[in-house]
Amino acid sequence: MKKAAPATTLRLLLGDQLNARHSWFDAVDDTVLYVLMEVRQETDYVLHHAQKIIAIFAAMRALAAQLQAAGHRVAYFSIDDRANLKSLTGNLDMLLAQCGASRFEYQEPDEWRLDRQLLEWCVSLPQSVACQMVSSEHFYTAREDAARLFEGRRKWLMEHFYRHMRAAHGVLMEADGQPEGGQWNYDHDNRQKWPGLPAAPRDIRPLHDHSQLWSTIEAAGVKSFGQPQADHIRWPLDRAEALAQLDAFVAEALPHFGQFQDAMSSRAWRLFHSLLSFAMNVKLLDPREVVEKVEAAWRAGAAPLAAAEGFIRQILGWREYVRGVYWAKMPHYGEHNVFGHQADLPHWFWDGDTKMRCMAHAIGHSLEYAHAHHIHRLMVIGNFALLAGLAPKQVHEWYLGVYIDAFEWVEMPNTLGMSQYADNGMMATKPYVSGAAYIDRMSDYCKGCHYDKKDRLGERACPFNALYWDFFARNEERLSSNPRIGMVYPQLRKMTPAAREALAVKAAALREGLDDL
Ligand code: FAD
Ligand code: SF4
Repeated sequence: MKKAAPATTLRLLLGDQLNARHSWFDAVDDTVLYVLMEVRQETDYVLHHAQKIIAIFAAMRALAAQLQAAGHRVAYFSIDDRANLKSLTGNLDMLLAQCGASRFEYQEPDEWRLDRQLLEWCVSLPQSVACQMVSSEHFYTAREDAARLFEGRRKWLMEHFYRHMRAAHGVLMEADGQPEGGQWNYDHDNRQKWPGLPAAPRDIRPLHDHSQLWSTIEAAGVKSFGQPQADHIRWPLDRAEALAQLDAFVAEALPHFGQFQDAMSSRAWRLFHSLLSFAMNVKLLDPREVVEKVEAAWRAGAAPLAAAEGFIRQILGWREYVRGVYWAKMPHYGEHNVFGHQADLPHWFWDGDTKMRCMAHAIGHSLEYAHAHHIHRLMVIGNFALLAGLAPKQVHEWYLGVYIDAFEWVEMPNTLGMSQYADNGMMATKPYVSGAAYIDRMSDYCKGCHYDKKDRLGERACPFNALYWDFFARNEERLSSNPRIGMVYPQLRKMTPAAREALAVKAAALREGLDDL
């Protein structure tokens, strides 16, 4: 990077703030210098999937080029730039000294650690430099809105938040304030196994060759895991590509999204999911435009209400809700571990080499595509992690590293709260765990698995089964009064002491030998 010429204002863009339609860019101003940087603190704060590093850097580079082409002044620190001090605040100090700016502006970071770092850096600046944090202009809600809505409540029920959001933003609402179709939630229509038809949608995502960028990242010594696939990166890296992905989803997948939302198949890893999370989380797409397109498709008769509602709930509901939980509960949320689980992740979280077919598929997709859909994350990988007693912090760091869309504000509440119940049920109404029966009902994995889905105790018994019963037995005091857990405790109490003991012994042996499963 060349030495920066004088500027009055320095504006920072983080790697997940790639919104070319932000009001910052409404006018070209020669006194403003925008800065983007590829820094080791961002590549290294957790071990990341290679595709995630490539995709974020490539999308940052694309935005920098777009801004420059529009006439904006941009300082870009690439990972191999000798002027790059590899630290966010180190580079900012250097640029400020070079260009002599008297203002520093940044968009609200989505992650707590960056928020703190920038606040502290601003406080350390001389008084001659004014600092301002502005809105990222991305979310429906402000950071503290959910905390306000749930003030004084122990349980933060998403459904309550979601109904509030529907009404507040007039999404899928009738003129008289009632939800379209008379129901808020069509989840009961959305629980089917996929029989192979209708055919899975085409994957129209672009193909990028970023081998050169990957070589540069490797040469810089950045560590990673997962398959880089640098010569065929398939994630949308600019707004036009993200919009094309949205349009293709609405046309081809949305009509079946609801029906097969929870289905899993060895023949189609993505099924009818949108693959839009990366584009939204780095802000190439605005959640409003996604929600509006989906609602419009339903109004035009191109998708059933259950599909549109189910999809919109994920964005208007879950996505905004988890952000609210994150900002209300940081910085301590990450420490929760109500069950005191301490086990290390088995090796196959890193290489996918396990005899459990469901886990091999779900982790395999994660390592191959930097993606797995929601039910793989919740009811296969997360389910196993909770039953096996894996340390929630390690589980969180794995999820934060492996998924292309993983940024702490969205990943942490989903992993620690929804999936690991580590916050003692502040978010989840019950622990999301199951034995083999659920996985078999929603997928084709059990057929052809090394393990026997029906067996609990034999050598080839499905590990989920004994671990499931043992999990509830071990946590009876904490969980037995939860009405959402249904028949588990009556069934456990019907078992003989010997049967319960056999399950406990089997589960302990499984937990001892996780690496061999
Ligand atoms: P679709 O199924 O097509 O859903 C549409 C959109 O809804 C997604 O793109 C996403 O923006 C939003 N969405 C759906 N579910 C959720 C949710 N539970 N929380 C927030 N937004 C949601 N999502 C992330 O974006 N980043 C993460 O790091 C992340 N970690 C997760 C960890 C666990 C343990 C679990 C159970 C879920 C996690 N999710 C995360 C939510 C969800 O799995 C992904 O958003 C989804 O799989 C992304 O694929 P898609 O775009 O095809 O989603
Ligand atoms: Fe997974 Fe058990 Fe089914 Fe095998 S039998 S695919 S381990 S649930």
